[in-house]
Amino acid sequence: MDSQTEMQGIVIVGEGVCEEVITRADAFGAVEAVFAAMARGDAYNFPVVREAIGHADALYGFKGGFDRAGLALGLKAGGYWPGNMDKGLTNHQSTVCLFDPDTGQLSALVGGNYLTALRTAASSSVSIAHLARKDAKVLGMVGAGHQSTFQLRAAAEQRDFEKVVAWNPHPEMLPRLGAVAEELGLAFEALTPEELGAEADVIITITSAFEPLLMADWIKPGTHIACMGTDTKGKQEVDPALLSRASVFADEIAQSVSIGEAQHAVAEGLIAAGDITPIGAVINGTHPGRSSDDEITLFDGTGVGLQDLAVASVAARIARARGLGEVVRLG
Ligand code: NAD
Repeated sequence: MDSQTEMQGIVIVGEGVCEEVITRADAFGAVEAVFAAMARGDAYNFPVVREAIGHADALYGFKGGFDRAGLALGLKAGGYWPGNMDKGLTNHQSTVCLFDPDTGQLSALVGGNYLTALRTAASSSVSIAHLARKDAKVLGMVGAGHQSTFQLRAAAEQRDFEKVVAWNPHPEMLPRLGAVAEELGLAFEALTPEELGAEADVIITITSAFEPLLMADWIKPGTHIACMGTDTKGKQEVDPALLSRASVFADEIAQSVSIGEAQHAVAEGLIAAGDITPIGAVINGTHPGRSSDDEITLFDGTGVGLQDLAVASVAARIARARGLGEVVRLG
């Protein structure tokens, strides 16, 4: 019984415990720190595996990595099961496995569904904190699905917003977002996408779209836009011309140009990978970020495995400290 894992056991942290132990502030801090570590070269993501498994129409895969600064090693395993809704389950299913970087032993199994929404909202929220104008007052939401309410709650904490303007391709989904805005004490108005572009100081796009929903000419100078929905080849939320007009930042450049929003602008030759700045460079102070009040800043948040490991590590640590979750000892 000499390794830490053998002494402490493997902690199993279910979805309910995750919701109980980790706050938005914890997720923000963990995601900001890992983006900074990635830009310093202290943390890296492993190549993503994603496969259509030929069963239950499912897409399944792994996103892993190692953060030498935060000592998070592991992977998120999971994917998309389109028939789950009929069984009373969420279609997206994932679990994070954490390993002791000193021994390779499994140290924690953490439910990944709630954490995925929390870390994705933390990602756009880190971009708003570092890139949006300080005087931003109107938040534009494009998308009204599962992720959108997490996005709205996290973004609302970053600036003194007064109003939320929203558009969704399926308008019947908007009242749920409106109810969260009301709960946060923010005015809410459903607009056309063009009107939204003219009003919003900060925009979050979080849809499953495969075509541009916002055109470059609709976005006013000084806007910060976080494109969060595009995480697969072929998906798209904004006009590629917007990326040539904006200063573009990303969680990870390799993902941004291959599966992120930038894939289209790069394919059309409008921008190159070298035009994209890792958000971690802004966090670390090696890039100034926004340089003028009129600049349009665009964050391409593709979602990296290290974000999952970062928030899962926090959840596992707090659960262990509070005696929550199940502890299992092998051998
Ligand atoms: P959801 O299924 O709950 O909601 C889907 C949203 O997209 C709704 O607003 C819906 O009206 C809209 N939509 C659906 N089909 C569309 C189409 N063909 N064209 C335009 N809009 C369409 O999904 P969710 O969990 O809210 O996720 C939204 C998106 O965010 C997905 O694309 C998902 O893959 C992505 N996502 C990204 C990250 C990341 O880290 N970047 C993490 C989680 C999810």
